[in-house]
Amino acid sequence: MPLIVVDEVRKRFGDNEVLKGVSLNVEPGEVIAIIGKSGSGKSTLLRCINGLESIDDGTIMVGDAHVGTDEVRLRALRLRVGMIFQQFNLFPHLTTGRNVMLSPMVVKGMKESDAATLARDVLTRVGLEHKFDDWPDSLSGGQQQRVAIARALAMQPIALLCDEITSALDPELVNEVLAVVRGLAADGMTLLMVTHEMRFAREVCDRVVFMHHGRVHETGPSEEVFGNPQTPELRQFLGML
Ligand code: ADP
Ligand code: MG
Repeated sequence: MPLIVVDEVRKRFGDNEVLKGVSLNVEPGEVIAIIGKSGSGKSTLLRCINGLESIDDGTIMVGDAHVGTDEVRLRALRLRVGMIFQQFNLFPHLTTGRNVMLSPMVVKGMKESDAATLARDVLTRVGLEHKFDDWPDSLSGGQQQRVAIARALAMQPIALLCDEITSALDPELVNEVLAVVRGLAADGMTLLMVTHEMRFAREVCDRVVFMHHGRVHETGPSEEVFGNPQTPELRQFLGML
C-alpha cells in the first residue's frame, strides 16, 4: 500500500489554479525528485501534502489519514510529515540541541531528559552531535541545514519533504547536506524532494516527477526520465533542446 496518495488534487490561489489535478503515489521507502520550472507548483504540492495549505479538490492520504479538503485534519498531517525548507529557520536564541528538542517537548509533551536523548541521537545521524551546545550562528549554512534536518527527524516523521534545501547554500556546502539526505535514503526514509541537483536526483532518487503548469507532465524511474525524456517540455527543461 502506498504511504502517500495524492489523488486529483486541485489548488487555487484566487483565479490562479496552481495544481490542476495532480495525482501521485509514494511507496514506503521511495525517494522521489520533483523537478520543474519555477512557478510550476512544486512547493505548493509539498505544502499541500504537509497540510500547510488546504486543497480545493481531490484527496491526500498520508499513512492511514485521509485529508481531502478537511481543514481540521491538517494539523495531524503536519505531525506525521516532516518538511525542510530552503531557509533553515533555526531559532537563533536557542542552542542547536534546544532547537531540536523544542518540538518534541512542546508539541508531543516529551520530558526534557528524553528530548535531550532524542536530540543527541538525531544530531548524530546528521554528524553534528558535537555541536549540541553551540549556537546556530556559529555554524556554517550547511551545518545549520543539517540541524534543520535533525529537527525534522526528531518528530519521527513517516516521510520527509524537502523543498530546495540546498538552494540557499554556497556551492561548497551543498554536498554535506546531500550526503545526509543520501544517508536517510539508504536507511529507508521516504523522501520527496524538490531539487535542482539533477545529478543527485539521477543517482539517489528512485523516481522523478516533472511538474509543468500545475500538472505531473512526465514521471518515471530516474534513469528513464533523465536518459530518455519523452516530452519536448522535459527535454527543454533538461537543456536538451
Ligand atoms: P514552484 O515551487 O514550482 O516554483 P509554487 O508552488 O511556489 O511553484 O507556485 C506556483 C504558483 O502559485 C505561482 O504562480 C505562485 O505565484 C503561486 N502561489 C504560490 N503560493 C501562493 C500564495 N500563498 N498565494 C498566492 N499565490 C501563490
Ligand atoms: Mg518552490
